Amino acid sequence: MDLLNTLVDKGLRRALPSREEALAVLATTDDELLDVVAAAGKVRRQWFGRRVKLNYLVNLKSGLCPEDCSYCSQRLGSKAEILKYTWLKPEEASKAAAAGVAGGAKRVCLVASGRGPTDKDVDRVARTIDAIKSENEDVEVCACLGLLSDGQAERLRGAGADAYNHNLNTSEATYGDITTTHTYADRVDTVQKAHAAGLSACSGLIAGMGESDADLVDVVFGLRELDPDSVPVNFLIPFEGTPLAKEWNLTPQRCLRILAMVRFVCPDVEVRIAGGREVHLRSMQPLALHIANSIFLGDYLTSEGQAGRADLDMIADAGFEVEGTDQVTLPEHRGGGCGSVCGSADEAPADGTRSDERSDAVRTDTVRTADAPGEARTDLVAVRRRGAGTDLAPNA
Ligand code: SF4
Repeated sequence: MDLLNTLVDKGLRRALPSREEALAVLATTDDELLDVVAAAGKVRRQWFGRRVKLNYLVNLKSGLCPEDCSYCSQRLGSKAEILKYTWLKPEEASKAAAAGVAGGAKRVCLVASGRGPTDKDVDRVARTIDAIKSENEDVEVCACLGLLSDGQAERLRGAGADAYNHNLNTSEATYGDITTTHTYADRVDTVQKAHAAGLSACSGLIAGMGESDADLVDVVFGLRELDPDSVPVNFLIPFEGTPLAKEWNLTPQRCLRILAMVRFVCPDVEVRIAGGREVHLRSMQPLALHIANSIFLGDYLTSEGQAGRADLDMIADAGFEVEGTDQVTLPEHRGGGCGSVCGSADEAPADGTRSDERSDAVRTDTVRTADAPGEARTDLVAVRRRGAGTDLAPNA
């Protein structure tokens, strides 16, 4: 296809595709899908080889948020039966982080629900970063604490944070339909504050919230303009008890097209498959590794992910390798990645969501597709009941 040849050529040169080209990727047919994956794979291999970076989420504070993000199980008024707890102690967070690092994670993402941190919260996270780095000095730490006030990004950087995550989530035009308690501009401002403080900016999106192809292209072009080092791509996990509980409108094919579009628009950036990987890509997850160069290991913030061991086996079986702490993530022209320029996190999204021998959740015989929209799918979403905030061992 001329389209794919053009996109590969541009991706290898870090040239920006046109909006029409990005839209055309989303409009490709199932017959063309493997060609789309192969084309995105060429760009991925140019900048990231066959490496897969593993990231590990630690939910420092879960639920009870005053904001109303419709996709989030921790939102104001959420009826989702998630774990709810206030700030973990630094040593508790450090213990949870250590499990992820032992499982192969190179980056730990410290996430807290809420509109944004108080200065006291920033101090608490600074102590947590110190506790984590004193145990594992090579680990990259990304904070994801919501909207930042002046000076907070600098304080986090000074405390040893490598990165800051704040997702744009959806297009500016539809932002008000998803959240009313803050704006798209507020989110842009926080990403810019993180950047300006020398933190590696991590900012991504959530697909599957009823947005149009044009909205998806808009948010990805908006992200490219902000120039984050990492872009988490979340696929909505429609949590029971949230306003988007019935938005089951993604297929594995659609997810692959979205990832490919992100790769073509942001060719040399860490593209991370975030929440919803197991639920929406299901048995097509290994194909997505040909496009994205990063995933979360273990559980998500409020839902369970595939067993950590299954992730490692999948990476090896698909012919990829886990990126080590001695390997730089980003290409040289971007500074090589965390530690040198940086740092990431999926507010992973404060809704980021994953499931294990979650055999129930990924069973292909129960899979639904976009042809049966509108039903709740409690069989595909397992609420997290282990790890941080519980007495049970984490999944890593
Ligand atoms: S995404 Fe973050 S700010 Fe929005 S409701 Fe969830 S925890 Fe609160």
